Amino acid sequence: MVEHPGLESYNPEAFAKATAEAVRRLEPRLFLCAHTFTGMEIAPWVAARLGLPLVSNCLSLAVDGPDLVADRPTHGLAWQTRLRLPMRGTIVASMARGGTRQRVEAPAAAVEALDIDPAMLDVRTCIRETLRPEAGEVDISRAEVVVGVGRGVRDPSNVAVMEELAAALGGVLACSRPLVDLGWMPQERQVGVSGKEIHAKVYLACGISGAAQHVAGIADAQTIIAVNQDANAPIFRVAHYGVVADLFEVVPALIEEAKRRRVD
Ligand SMILES: Cc1cc2nc3c(=O)[nH]c(=O)nc-3n(C[C@H](O)[C@H](O)[C@H](O)COP(=O)(O)OP(=O)(O)OC[C@H]3O[C@@H](n4cnc5c(N)ncnc54)[C@H](O)[C@@H]3O)c2cc1C
Repeated sequence: MVEHPGLESYNPEAFAKATAEAVRRLEPRLFLCAHTFTGMEIAPWVAARLGLPLVSNCLSLAVDGPDLVADRPTHGLAWQTRLRLPMRGTIVASMARGGTRQRVEAPAAAVEALDIDPAMLDVRTCIRETLRPEAGEVDISRAEVVVGVGRGVRDPSNVAVMEELAAALGGVLACSRPLVDLGWMPQERQVGVSGKEIHAKVYLACGISGAAQHVAGIADAQTIIAVNQDANAPIFRVAHYGVVADLFEVVPALIEEAKRRRVD
């Protein structure tokens, strides 16, 4: 624990310097943080400052003899890379977000207060203003339930039934890129590398093949459910639940069931 007035509100440089100093003094085998927006800033900064190896966005970490073995996603979630790092000195690692891991009760860690020279936290970075990106009328990146529609919907007139499903589930409608390119949906609803990243509790992908560029935007969704008539569609490799069926049969049934169960 480091207490300092310069750490009262988030400043990446100050937080990274304080963290790096703690890591330098404590010399842990592993410095672990979450691959959140904060972790994405702090981890590389700490690693660079101390000249340590960094392995980011890990899906799993294991100690195997003298090595740390880390699995991390590449090309969205389409592939995984396994890295093996000899555990000499400290390794900086960040864990991917998302709901794939189980929470476990960890034993309470000892908290030690560290005195850090105030001059060490003199920083050049100052936060002048915090800006919110324009979200349009619907912000898919903040929604808890997101229904994704893809080219499998076949015709723009069918988008309405997908809107109805999203509304019945209390969620918002998002889409894959072709629907934006075709002018069927606005760009702010696009999920993926050239669209938005979603952080939903549930993502229901209907008629979406699961191209790497799309999947890159759903890595943080806690539960992914896919409806696709092609059992070999890549979306089933990342989905937690899959329905191999015609979406035009599944979606009306889901709407009916969601409306029946909904308690407003
Ligand atoms: C530089 C670059 C950036 C890109 N960025 C993005 C991005 O940000 N987001 C994005 O989404 N894509 C992006 N793409 C495009 C991406 O590569 C794919 O082309 C796109 O994601 C495919 O969209 P889709 O799954 O809707 O369509 P398709 O790949 O055509 O898949 C349609 C799916 O619907 C299924 N289907 C058809 N009919 C039915 C039915 N009746 N019931 C159920 N299933 C059915 C089919 O089996 C198929 O799997 C990008 C591409 C490039 C090159």
